[in-house]
Amino acid sequence: MTPALPLALPTAPECAPVLRERGQREVFCGLTGIIWLHRKVQDAFFLVVGSRTCAHLLQSAAGVMVFAEPRFGTAIIEERDLAGMVDCNAELDRIVARLLDRRPDITLLFLVGSCPSEVIKLDLGRAAKRLSAAQNGARRILHYSGSGIETTFTEGEDACLAALVPELPATAPGAAPELMIVGTLPDVVEDQFQRLFAQLGIATVHALPARRADAMPPVGPNTRFLLAQPFLGETARALEDRGAVRLDALFPFGAEGTTDWLHAAARAFGVDEMHFRAVIAPGRERAKRAIAHCRERLVGKTLFFLPDSQLEIPLARFLTQELGMVPLEVGTPYLHRRHLAQELALLPRTTVISEGQDVERQLDRVRAARPDLTICGLGLANPLEAEGLTTKWAIELVFSPIHGFDQAGDLAELFARPLRRRDVLRV
Ligand code: SF4
Repeated sequence: MTPALPLALPTAPECAPVLRERGQREVFCGLTGIIWLHRKVQDAFFLVVGSRTCAHLLQSAAGVMVFAEPRFGTAIIEERDLAGMVDCNAELDRIVARLLDRRPDITLLFLVGSCPSEVIKLDLGRAAKRLSAAQNGARRILHYSGSGIETTFTEGEDACLAALVPELPATAPGAAPELMIVGTLPDVVEDQFQRLFAQLGIATVHALPARRADAMPPVGPNTRFLLAQPFLGETARALEDRGAVRLDALFPFGAEGTTDWLHAAARAFGVDEMHFRAVIAPGRERAKRAIAHCRERLVGKTLFFLPDSQLEIPLARFLTQELGMVPLEVGTPYLHRRHLAQELALLPRTTVISEGQDVERQLDRVRAARPDLTICGLGLANPLEAEGLTTKWAIELVFSPIHGFDQAGDLAELFARPLRRRDVLRV
């Protein structure tokens, strides 16, 4: 049996008004991305040039790594550095030289900027060039900013991948079209997608980032890329600057999102429609069955997303389209209208879309609306629970495998669990 595909998606999404707010924000900084990036690129090292606060953030967020040979560290900026009493560049050169002497397995080093390095205006771009030149091509040293000043935590990955793009090799002129999946996915999920693309007959499928620094994909006008994450605006722009073409699609969450994402690639690579339907049928049906378990609990329930990871819009679409939830407000730190156009078009017209945050005003709206489920950061969850609201920690959505057909049931379950817990506690 072949699955019924979703109804045609709107081609010209209506531009719903967006509530823009600028005020106090409650989000992690871009350093957080190191936690998943260092697991993915196994011969890379992330050296944060920051303060003890930055070191503590990484140590507590990725504490398990203290038991393994770590692939990240912090070059601490001390008070005397901040006071301009030492030459920070000389200190940085010394730390990098010591690190690379001790760790010959590192082939790609990222110098990661932080709030303190930005405050003292330490030019990490120039430092990366100077240090890279000293390596005579043996290793690459790049830089990006993970600073919490005006950034949110998933932007760390965007900045890291955008820094990699100019370093990618060029594809041969006139080469056949190749597909690139852009955004860090757990290896097991990436393998599932690779198997589906192979069954569809798409011969060459790369991933950015690759699992090894020396295996980063080539890019050029023959590259067609699918964003796996909605927070990669700078990376997409950098790829387009090198001639690559973005395939517009829903993000691969749930049965419908994953179908549309795969379908965009199938269309771009001329895959026969019947073959496409036959290949995706088993996974799509599995996803629908897995989601159905949670539908009864979630249908008709109202939800409120506070801005956190930039996953909010596609996840709200999944919860609306596939689980029948009612999004009252969907807040996101930044709204990339072009990349999210199809997602936005599938949200109800009554949903408030908000960009940025003024946390006190937004909390007032949460209290007035009293949604069945509020998805928010760790720091806001406990106070809201104390007021009788049911919450879901947004950060779990970033650290759990949630993309693709085989994770659709787990994704739905992440939202059903807090409501089940609330019902059990009420009994
Ligand atoms: S980069 Fe800034 S926000 Fe992030 S841990 Fe360091 S000081 Fe804090």
